[in-house]
Amino acid sequence: MNIHEFQAKSILNTFGALIQRGYVASTPTEATEIAKKLQKETGTQYFVIKAQIHAGGRGKGGGVKLAKSIDEVYKLSNEILGMNLVTPQTPKQGKKVFQVLIAEDVYYEGDSKIEEFYISILLNRSSSKNMIMYSPEGGVDIEAVAEKTPELIFNLDICPKEGLTEQNAKEISDNLNLVGIARENMLVFIRSLYDAYEKSDSSLFEINPVLKTSDNKILAVDAKVTLDDNALFRHQDYLEMRDIREENSIEVEAKEAGLNYVDLEGNVGCMVNGAGLAMATMDLIKQAGGEPANFLDVGGTADSERVQTAFRIITQDPNVKAILVNIFGGIVRCDTVAKGIIDACSNMRNKISVPIIVRLEGTNSHIAKNIIDSSGLNFYSATEFKEAAEKVQQVLISV
Ligand code: GDP
Ligand code: MG
Repeated sequence: MNIHEFQAKSILNTFGALIQRGYVASTPTEATEIAKKLQKETGTQYFVIKAQIHAGGRGKGGGVKLAKSIDEVYKLSNEILGMNLVTPQTPKQGKKVFQVLIAEDVYYEGDSKIEEFYISILLNRSSSKNMIMYSPEGGVDIEAVAEKTPELIFNLDICPKEGLTEQNAKEISDNLNLVGIARENMLVFIRSLYDAYEKSDSSLFEINPVLKTSDNKILAVDAKVTLDDNALFRHQDYLEMRDIREENSIEVEAKEAGLNYVDLEGNVGCMVNGAGLAMATMDLIKQAGGEPANFLDVGGTADSERVQTAFRIITQDPNVKAILVNIFGGIVRCDTVAKGIIDACSNMRNKISVPIIVRLEGTNSHIAKNIIDSSGLNFYSATEFKEAAEKVQQVLISV
């Protein structure tokens, strides 16, 4: 589960790391109230207004702005709230901004002594260890740093038995060229960050930038966190951080129906039982010259109701030009599935207008094929995998 910057920072802060102070607002009036409160608490004269969406690159997309007065806080919040923010990390159409974070300015205008670092912790799957990735050249251009000067990106695997050691933290601070109080503060920051990553059961904790202020404080200006869904039962308080508006609405509906669905960008919708078969089906679609529009595993019980829900979900995607149903009838018999598919298609309020290729293999597959062929509906039937691929190809040529 992904969470917003302000939520990620609050988790980090509970583990002892300093963060840029701020509060979240949904209206420009609320934003100005927050700015006044921040001014009282921190003495800050300037404020940053930051769009809260589940995507990075907001600065470059116009979603992070500096306000030099309370009036400007109102004006800029008003501009950012409700905007459709497009960044290199959002879908093409962008993401709507429902909340802004009003934070104290920690860059103190014109100060040349500030430095921006990059630090993230994630699982290194090839070494099966947690890895700290860091760079002395953090900030909005980190992708360019990685591409042009990869020697400035450091990786450090952490021993699972020992956890983060003092030596690890010192090595990082040294490679970030820190000395004196800034180095001491960085050691504390790294320990807190590692603690936050481990104890929150995250799969990613990325802080970019980590800022060294002119008075040698080390704090998180931004935070991007992915919590492990399988561990959320241990963190009831994090469950409340879920923002359903950020999630793909079709995926949310599928989840509620107990279907395993992932939205993709192709033109052939797939309905399959079993994740392995679903993967193979997606390969088959590619070989046939199409692109899968989704991954959808209907699970073991491919009954009429489930199939109907699956069709409804698949056909909500306007890019779908054909649907491939590829179901293996093991425990559930193919003829039962075939009847389920026909019932589902006949019962749907909005009839499916795209061609449907049905491949049912396994118990009673031949009876199932007869049922599909004599249904009078817009179906193409197949029993072999290859045959199904050819039918997909034919259908794609004709649409
Ligand atoms: P991202 O673009 O989504 O990664 O959002 P960030 O939170 O990382 O902010 C982007 C950039 O905005 C930072 O790298 C800074 O350059 C700038 N920024 C963030 N906070 C402040 C602030 O307090 N003062 C000033 N002047 N700039 C800030
Ligand atoms: Mg950032």
